[in-house]
Amino acid sequence: MSIQVQNIHKAFGDFVALDNLTLDFPGGELVALLGPSGCGKTTLLRVIAGLEQADSGRVLLDGEDASDTHVRERQVGFVFQHYALFRHMTVFDNVAFGLRMKPRKLRPSEADIKRKVHELLDLVQLDWLADRFPAQLSGGQRQRIALARALAVEPRVLLLDEPFGALDAKVRKELRRWLRRLHDELHITSIFVTHDQEEALEVADRVVLMNHGRVEQIGSPGEVYRQPATPFVYGFLGAANRFEGSGSAGGIAVGNARLSSEPAAYDGRVIAFVRPHELDIVPGEHGDGVPARISRLLTLGALTRVELEGRDELAGQQFDVELPAGSELVASLQAGQPVRLKPRSVRVFANQETAGAA
Ligand code: ATP
Repeated sequence: MSIQVQNIHKAFGDFVALDNLTLDFPGGELVALLGPSGCGKTTLLRVIAGLEQADSGRVLLDGEDASDTHVRERQVGFVFQHYALFRHMTVFDNVAFGLRMKPRKLRPSEADIKRKVHELLDLVQLDWLADRFPAQLSGGQRQRIALARALAVEPRVLLLDEPFGALDAKVRKELRRWLRRLHDELHITSIFVTHDQEEALEVADRVVLMNHGRVEQIGSPGEVYRQPATPFVYGFLGAANRFEGSGSAGGIAVGNARLSSEPAAYDGRVIAFVRPHELDIVPGEHGDGVPARISRLLTLGALTRVELEGRDELAGQQFDVELPAGSELVASLQAGQPVRLKPRSVRVFANQETAGAA
């Protein structure tokens, strides 16, 4: 089922949670709503579900205005961060719940319910837990059961609000791969909320980046990562070194140093971002590049992260460089050493924070 959100506005008192938002979710995709805490992700999910009334705008489900359609009739399945399983019911009864609650005319027979519940438990690979109670399950198992329960009523849309947020890192990683495979099998239009960029990039067909109740960018994981549309997106998707400088046909100047000699995309004040793995370190105090000094070296498995501080006019600014651990260069570096930084790839934005920006 496709979902269109048209000019949705939602305020809580003076606070604007959704700011005239327009979005198009084609049917069958797994979409991540990604953004910092408080940017309106959950509110958007609740408006789509019909749990929250927007102040203005409309939600279309398969092209039809859903404004007057009750939550129960929207055929939406939910999974929340905090497992909402009934504690006094077995796993089987939890999954059967939605089917047993159907109006008498639509309710399947107990034999059909039994077959369906076992099918769903098979799908989430937990049929062997059918007779347990939620307290006897791990967090990851509970979330898979919650998903089976949401799927029981054959929803046309699945809405997942930080479904793995309460789980530890390892289980989280396993479950997001599992969700991807499950979606490949079922192809139900699914929207999941996360503030974890790695999770969004790894799992989703499409990522919607939100900030302050607005959409900053929509794209495939590759697009939003490689071609971030705004400084916010760049900063949010992965650590980035940020340089403020001025752009011209001669390149980008940062203080007295030259960050890049390629003609800049903007004239005047710019913000330039460089990812930690795209910044080279050249030992030595003087010469080309941005002057910095190594603060410390951290070994992170296959990578060494070099933390640096700017020198001269860039004193007080922090930078990070990631290098393959065990390389000759890494072995030669030490804390306190003056170096220069040279980017291999720079992403430049006009500096809107300064008057007269291009
Ligand atoms: P998080 O990742 O922290 O869950 P979010 O992006 O999902 O954040 P929302 O839960 O949509 O954000 O909330 C957006 C903003 O609206 C927040 O500042 C929140 O405090 C506010 N808000 C949400 N619901 C209500 C409410 N019922 N009454 C008042 N303010 C609310």
